[in-house]
Amino acid sequence: MARSGVAAAKLAVSQGHTVVCTDRRPDAPVVPGTVPVYGPHRLEDFVGAEQIVVSPGVPAKLPELVAARAAGVDVVGEMAWAAEQLTCPILAISGTNGKSTTTHLLGQLCANAGRRTFEGGNIGRPLSEAVGGEWDVAVVEVSSYQMELPGRFRPRAAAILNLTPDHLERHGTMENYGAHKCRMFAHMGPEDAAILPAGDARLRRLADDLPGQRLLLGGHPGVTVEGDQLLLRGVHDPGAVSTVGFTLPGRHNLENLAAAVLLAVCGGLSRRELDVGRLGGLAHRMELVHEAGGVRWIDDSKATNVDSALACFEGWSGPFVALLGGKGKAGAAYEGLAPSLARARRVICFGEEGPVIHAALARADVPADLVPTLAAAIPHAAALALPGDTVLLSPACASFDEFRDFEDRGLKYREWLRER
Ligand code: ADP
Repeated sequence: MARSGVAAAKLAVSQGHTVVCTDRRPDAPVVPGTVPVYGPHRLEDFVGAEQIVVSPGVPAKLPELVAARAAGVDVVGEMAWAAEQLTCPILAISGTNGKSTTTHLLGQLCANAGRRTFEGGNIGRPLSEAVGGEWDVAVVEVSSYQMELPGRFRPRAAAILNLTPDHLERHGTMENYGAHKCRMFAHMGPEDAAILPAGDARLRRLADDLPGQRLLLGGHPGVTVEGDQLLLRGVHDPGAVSTVGFTLPGRHNLENLAAAVLLAVCGGLSRRELDVGRLGGLAHRMELVHEAGGVRWIDDSKATNVDSALACFEGWSGPFVALLGGKGKAGAAYEGLAPSLARARRVICFGEEGPVIHAALARADVPADLVPTLAAAIPHAAALALPGDTVLLSPACASFDEFRDFEDRGLKYREWLRER
């Protein structure tokens, strides 16, 4: 009974269903018109239901859900349940990194082209809130959790942006993680588009037998980035789209834009309707939050794993000071950051994982400084940065050692910078 559970319950009540809401949290929110069962689950609520709509936070292997499925109950994820009730086409975005950014870019492309656009899913509004609205298109961020109970989820076009080890605690292996993501394609028709990174052989193999037209990010048919143009091939309106005027920094954002443009065209937009110059970014993703003494400070607090931080540092062409650290994830390979961090003016490690990152970089001959906290890293960086430098907070770690979440970390960073 978090956001998507509440949204689904409200919708089901409005449709006249008898709705039992269950959550182990005794203080879960009560939706008017439902029967709340909060605290321990009661098996009879599960096996006695006609249908169970599951929040993405709940694992599909929960014993009560397994028992319900065995008893013939229709068990479906909230997103898939909502998607089946929508009449507008769905454009879906998944992957390890860049989902929210790409979702927001695509949402803006569609809205600026005059389409009534619902933007949500895993970020922002749950898809259940779209049902019953007057939408021309739904732009939906999909997490792999949402594909654990995928029902007959059928997007008009769906992209997996990239796949790198991140949520392996829940999925076990990369093979499983990839297979989960590919479930977005399972119910496609021949005219729907399944979009994959050209360079990921595993994903391409996993998607091999699935339906849908195959399009590639960084290949053709699909989209490639060439200089300041995106080239679209094998779609209804093939040709070039200029990226001049696109302001989001970093190579990875150009790739996110390429994915958004390809999805938009798959959703029926034509190239001349796409206004790349009007697109903005999201908070805590490569966001410029402060500028003083010729030094720019960037908040990329959302970079909670090695690959997203790597995208930040690799894509940065000017001189920079790097801030990394926080709560580490098991098996994180910080050595992979060494080549791009070797170009930094200085690397500063902080937080619980600081010493681990510091040691990994030292093994790769990249010198770094070690400070206890992010608050301590700021004056240290300020003392080292020269006019013209950029300080990049792209931590490669979760935030829970010092902060509530990545947003809290980003907001505090900005606050401390303004207080200086
Ligand atoms: P998600 O919703 O998948 O977590 P976000 O758009 O919120 O993705 O971006 C998360 C972080 O990943 C950002 O801080 C950014 O540095 C990095 N990032 C964004 N796009 C990409 C990409 N295409 N490849 C790798 N890293 C990326």
